[in-house]
Amino acid sequence: MNLTVIGTGYVGLVSGTCFAEMGNTVTCIDVDTKKIENLKGGIIPIYEPGLEAMVRRNIENKTLRFSTNLNNHLQKCDIAFIAVGTPMGDDGSADLKYVLQVAKEIGLHMTNPLIIVDKSTVPVGTADKVSATIQKELEKRNVDIEFHVVSNPEFLKEGDAINDFMKPDRVVIGSDDQKSTEKMRTLYSPFFRSSQDRLITMDVRSAEMTKYVANAMLATKISFMNEIANICELVGADVNKVRIGIGSDSRIGYSFIYPGSGYGGSCFPKDVKALKKTAEEHGYKASLISSVEEVNDRQKLVIAQKVITRFGEDLKGKTFAIWGLAFKPETDDMREAPAIYIIKELVQRGAKIQAYDPKAMKEAEHFYLKDMKGVTYCKSKYDTLKNADAMILLTEWKEFRSPDFEELKVQLNTPIIFDGRNQYNDVLMTERGIEYYQIGKKLNN
Ligand code: NAD
Repeated sequence: MNLTVIGTGYVGLVSGTCFAEMGNTVTCIDVDTKKIENLKGGIIPIYEPGLEAMVRRNIENKTLRFSTNLNNHLQKCDIAFIAVGTPMGDDGSADLKYVLQVAKEIGLHMTNPLIIVDKSTVPVGTADKVSATIQKELEKRNVDIEFHVVSNPEFLKEGDAINDFMKPDRVVIGSDDQKSTEKMRTLYSPFFRSSQDRLITMDVRSAEMTKYVANAMLATKISFMNEIANICELVGADVNKVRIGIGSDSRIGYSFIYPGSGYGGSCFPKDVKALKKTAEEHGYKASLISSVEEVNDRQKLVIAQKVITRFGEDLKGKTFAIWGLAFKPETDDMREAPAIYIIKELVQRGAKIQAYDPKAMKEAEHFYLKDMKGVTYCKSKYDTLKNADAMILLTEWKEFRSPDFEELKVQLNTPIIFDGRNQYNDVLMTERGIEYYQIGKKLNN
């Protein structure tokens, strides 16, 4: 098929490239001229394992093209995907300005029947808004062209996006038009060679809702476990053992029940808020979802609080080594990363920070911690330790899992670790003479 993907960010670039890899001809469109120029040369703007090689291969095969010009590409197109950002608006709802701008452009330029797919995460009712926007432009042009708007939310995870897209747990297609559903089924069938059961079709509104519910459910699991961790600590239990104890129940399972420093990233925080807002707009107070958010906001600062309890309210003259800045491993994404909040809290109290992250240091230095004085960036995890008073682990990158603890002890002023991701065994830490603070278990319990 001939596909156009509008918006070449994480979702647009990964989807477009994977569709091309599967034999379709894809044009990825973006308003960011520099991004498109770089992509034409095979330079990708994000860190995502395996993506650059796949982009380059498909550019060479001429199955993947990049452009800033949408109108040239709609004529030959079977399906146009909208994959632009839907950031959090001032009132917490999803801001649809980019989505509706794209809808307007489609209405302005389309010349033949088209399926328009909302791949961006958008609140229930957005497909109707996209449809009305396109229709209005067609009427202004005095033309009558058939089109259908389909909802096809994306479930990929940053850091494992190629795998998620090429071998999805499920693909959700929401459409009120049978022919559009069949066309989407044809497009996605090659991704499901073993079983088509995971290609789930439904009405548009249910599909739009499914994405928010999936993210809210995952965020709920995280906040639930973090709340349990905080209670464990107070009552003298070990959340690491409790986690294993409950995960063994197949109704609960082990995934997404790790305690930590809270969720971040570009999706969970904004999608949880947007779902709460949607409920509010319909006169429903979503108490559980509000609590998920509240627990997460508190959790982001639990590690900073432990540092303050250990070193005092005034941190002037103290230096901390930070291992990990990204909101999770295998990505350079720092949107809503707990590290931002923790570092701000420590710096405000006068501390100096020596930070290292395998991929996210540029993002931190140039955007998220740009104006933050007292933060220096180091070439390696060990470089952060020189003259530091403690190490604080905030992202569970593999390279942090089994460091040279003897080196750590030699470099640090005092052998102290604050672990925001419970990566180490506290008994072994004590044996090594390291003062080890983690989430959900009291020191030397
Ligand atoms: P992003 O910010 O990385 O990319 C969005 C892109 O759209 C940018 O490159 C921007 O320049 C471009 N854009 C904006 N207006 C445009 C226009 N009028 N025409 C063409 N391009 C335009 O965003 P993202 O992370 O890819 O997210 C996109 C959507 O997918 C969001 O709704 C998000 O919630 C959802 N989503 C994201 C993820 C994820 O892990 N990042 C996963 C699933 C769903």
